[in-house]
Amino acid sequence: MKYYTRSQAGLPPLAYPLATGCRKEFFIIHMTASSNGVKSLNQEFDLVRMWDREHRQKYGAACILEGMNVFQSGDIIEGRMPLDSNNGAAYGAARPGFGIEVDGTFLRGFTIPSGQYGALVELCVWARKQIYIPLDFRGHNQLGAYDKRNATTDCPGNLLSILPQLKRDVAAGGIGVEEPKGTEEVEDMYFKLSENQVARGSGYQSEKAGKHFYIDIMNDNGKSPSKAVCHVATDQQEYGNESLATLNKESSILRINVGDMNKEFGPVVARVQCTAGKVLVKFAE
Ligand SMILES: [Zn+2]
Repeated sequence: MKYYTRSQAGLPPLAYPLATGCRKEFFIIHMTASSNGVKSLNQEFDLVRMWDREHRQKYGAACILEGMNVFQSGDIIEGRMPLDSNNGAAYGAARPGFGIEVDGTFLRGFTIPSGQYGALVELCVWARKQIYIPLDFRGHNQLGAYDKRNATTDCPGNLLSILPQLKRDVAAGGIGVEEPKGTEEVEDMYFKLSENQVARGSGYQSEKAGKHFYIDIMNDNGKSPSKAVCHVATDQQEYGNESLATLNKESSILRINVGDMNKEFGPVVARVQCTAGKVLVKFAE
């Protein structure tokens, strides 16, 4: 594998820490929409640095959005690291997706060159031996269920047609890391907090309107859980600590402070981990 690290590519340091420890559910295949043809290694490094700049400027991201970049030369250059960070590079799917940018414009009959395809297979096989990633390959524009903006892109062009073969070829490369098992006491719930739910918790005072979410949360025995840890994430950034979640045990209201989160980043996703049993979550009306 012709593999180059972030530092070899001259990528600058992260603007702020990334979310890590993301449990991956699928690969996301992107196309870069840049020119076709084999580039020199220096041209490839230049491009990766340009994407890094663009993603910081356009989205306020900590760095380039996608996990990896695969070129027509067969070169592989790191993007957003580590492997288990929020590197899916698609709205709402940055955490569950492992994003790979395939360099080129796969439209108007131009199909992936064999050397680039081979490098893509090798990369996926290798990544699956480093962290848990299921054999599930999705094109960027197949992720409309995560955010409807994903459905409106041309990306990844005709790379959609290689996904079934890619899955077979990566499967033939060996068994990956096993799916991590959670403890029985903890149940994770993911739910989207849309903007019109901001500070709509009538009856609950928020010091900074628009910057808190309130969630009514209780165990299936009707009592509130003894402990809640909250992770709140945008596409680009995750805040995760206990101080984010304030649990009022009497009322079973969980307050989530989204503080200085930039709403331009798209829907905010929260994950709440609670101790003991099944937990019901509903938004305070
Ligand atoms: Zn894409």
